[in-house]
Amino acid sequence: MFVRKYHINPETLCYERVRLNRSQRIRFLVGFSMGLILLAILMRFGFERSFPTPRQIIYHKQNIILRSELSCLNAELQVVESQLEELRNRDDRFYRAILSLDPIPSSIRGAGTGGAKPGGILQNLRDPGMVNDVSQRIEKISSKMKIQSNSLDRVYNKAVKNQQLLAAKPSINPISPGDPTWLTSGYGYRNDPFTGRRTAHHGIDLAGNYGLDIHCTGEGTVTVSQVSRNGYGKEVVVDHGFGYTSRYAHLQDIHVEVGQKLKRGEVIGTLGNTGRSTGPHLHYEIRKNDSPVNPMYFYYENLSAGEYTLLASKANLSATPYQPMAMSQK
Ligand SMILES: [Zn+2]
Repeated sequence: MFVRKYHINPETLCYERVRLNRSQRIRFLVGFSMGLILLAILMRFGFERSFPTPRQIIYHKQNIILRSELSCLNAELQVVESQLEELRNRDDRFYRAILSLDPIPSSIRGAGTGGAKPGGILQNLRDPGMVNDVSQRIEKISSKMKIQSNSLDRVYNKAVKNQQLLAAKPSINPISPGDPTWLTSGYGYRNDPFTGRRTAHHGIDLAGNYGLDIHCTGEGTVTVSQVSRNGYGKEVVVDHGFGYTSRYAHLQDIHVEVGQKLKRGEVIGTLGNTGRSTGPHLHYEIRKNDSPVNPMYFYYENLSAGEYTLLASKANLSATPYQPMAMSQK
């Protein structure tokens, strides 16, 4: 291992062995020792790499499994993101459009999805790349879900309100199409049948036979059921909510009382000639926020006589049985 070195002595011309002095020996020994240590370290690493310990083998397998599971999770997240996107499209283009709600701007839908770095133990991972990605995607999905959930709550509330409005708004003829009636006076200015002067007529007049059933034209509550002092004779006023009221005047009989809840189609009285009237007819009036509107614009449900009878029979079946009221006749 150690090679002896010789040199020629110029005086004796003989070969002499080269001998190291003390400091050279120390340097040699230190260098030699360090070389040995370095060699030992390299051999250990090389051995471990070539022959991993059982624990390293288990960790390695676990690592492969975890990476595989993360890949599966990423794929599943992609499916969830697609479904969420589909829901967003349906929400904006269908549900909100039908209910006249504006689409939610992308800036709001994307709010809070900047991809914050994960906290906690994930910060301490040596290679957090894949875990970070999954964590950020879950955070984005969670944020979008909250916005979508709030949007669907709003859609639901608007739909319920619309349903209530549709049920309440006056929308049928107060007399069945099966009962013969004719329009004797329309909405607007006309010559007053009593004075001959041109005056505003805030409703429509439907002439017909005495005793025809008069039906409530939308869900509501009776607020007036009286003999009017203003020429309406026996009249009923129904408050439908949402600013709508309807008046049925010149009735022969009244079948409802103040505070009574009514369904669309329920009979509120019969056609008559009471009050300031020149013949048997119904004065039908609709007001929106206390301003008169033309009732002809409120016949949305163009029901046939059969459909009208079915609606009325259903409404009157569920109605409280009529009890004649004690009313003073004026
Ligand atoms: Zn009238």
